[in-house]
Amino acid sequence: MPLNIEKQMKAQLSEDILNVLKLCSKIADEHNFKIYLIGGIVRDLILKRKSLDIDITVEGDAVKFCHILAEKNCCKILQVQNELKTAKALFDGEIEIDFASTRQEFYPHRGHLPVVVKIGCSLQEDVYRRDFTINSLAMSLNKKDYGDVIDYVGGIKDLSNKKIRVLHDNSFNEDPSRILRALKFAARFNFHRDARTKALQEKYINTQIHNDISWTRIKSELKQCFSLNSAKIYDMFLANDNYKLIYGQKPEIKGLEIKTLVDKYNPYNVWLVYLGTVLTNTQIIEQFCFTRSEKKIFSDIEYLLNNHLSMMNTNYDIYKFFVKKSTESILVYYLLTQRKEALKYLENLSLIRVELNGDEIKAMGIQNGREIGEILDELLKKKLNGTIVKKGDEIKFVKSKIK
Ligand code: ATP
Repeated sequence: MPLNIEKQMKAQLSEDILNVLKLCSKIADEHNFKIYLIGGIVRDLILKRKSLDIDITVEGDAVKFCHILAEKNCCKILQVQNELKTAKALFDGEIEIDFASTRQEFYPHRGHLPVVVKIGCSLQEDVYRRDFTINSLAMSLNKKDYGDVIDYVGGIKDLSNKKIRVLHDNSFNEDPSRILRALKFAARFNFHRDARTKALQEKYINTQIHNDISWTRIKSELKQCFSLNSAKIYDMFLANDNYKLIYGQKPEIKGLEIKTLVDKYNPYNVWLVYLGTVLTNTQIIEQFCFTRSEKKIFSDIEYLLNNHLSMMNTNYDIYKFFVKKSTESILVYYLLTQRKEALKYLENLSLIRVELNGDEIKAMGIQNGREIGEILDELLKKKLNGTIVKKGDEIKFVKSKIK
């Protein structure tokens, strides 16, 4: 008897989502489509965890199925991808569902994106392109077996044994970003890789030459892992030698140290503080296609580490060294060098400003631009070193210069 999880669905999904799924079920039956919930949502239902995305796979053509739903005013189609025959649809103005046609994939170049060899294959053929057994479960949405879990690969057993297991020995060669996906799921669910998966991963990381891989996928998984701001993920990333995947270095840093700093200083790109401590190889940094602001963080880190001042005697020296550098890069610099000046800058010095502006100084009688610049710099020095605090004293200082 297959496992039936209709009860779990009722317990975990909202009334609105259940109604939408029933509607899809009805239309699928009327038009002879076999449809299934697939992947993460089935895993999460069995684990009794909240799931974010609803993915439905259609044995056949998902786009055709979505058009039927839309023609019957059941949903609004938001997006269609014709090559893969996938579609995103909106139900009741708020419930988004991704529909995919069953497909078989093939990896002509190890580590690159796959090519699709067949669309509309059987569910069983579709399942074999997936990453882990726990993500390869499907749940029927058709009336005759509604809620039945279809498990071709032993995913149910692995869920109860808390195991992360690849479907075949070539899995990491095909797509090494799965190494990071394993890390994410291990940390999220407190699961462990089974012995074979662990051995395959170690073999890939330690013996393969992996500079010719899809960095887009690697970047996306790194971003997901490190955006969780989890000390545990970082510690596992180092302990499992995952940093070798990106030709990184292994620093003597504990995840908790990073998390404490991130929580205190709130940088915008949390994930880059974690990644910045390991990703130092400039050639690999280039492969990542970072955005402009992300690139700046890495060039700031490089600048700070290469121009490392052995002496930072005054607050002014410290200020000048860190000014205009991103918070992320200053945190990485601190983590790698333990120079306390970095934290002094973030906590204190970066907040100090000269209150007078150039126009005000000009109005006081100084016309020359270079001179104004010099006065502003002197004022900054005095404010940083604490000899001037208030705006009134700034004005007095400028007046003394005029005399
Ligand atoms: P999450 O809860 O993080 O969203 P998820 O399992 O739903 O987890 P997605 O990234 O949304 O993850 O992927 C949906 C499904 O697609 C997965 O459950 C898995 O079956 C398949 N999948 C995703 N990425 C890969 C990959 N790199 N290789 C093989 N299959 C993948």
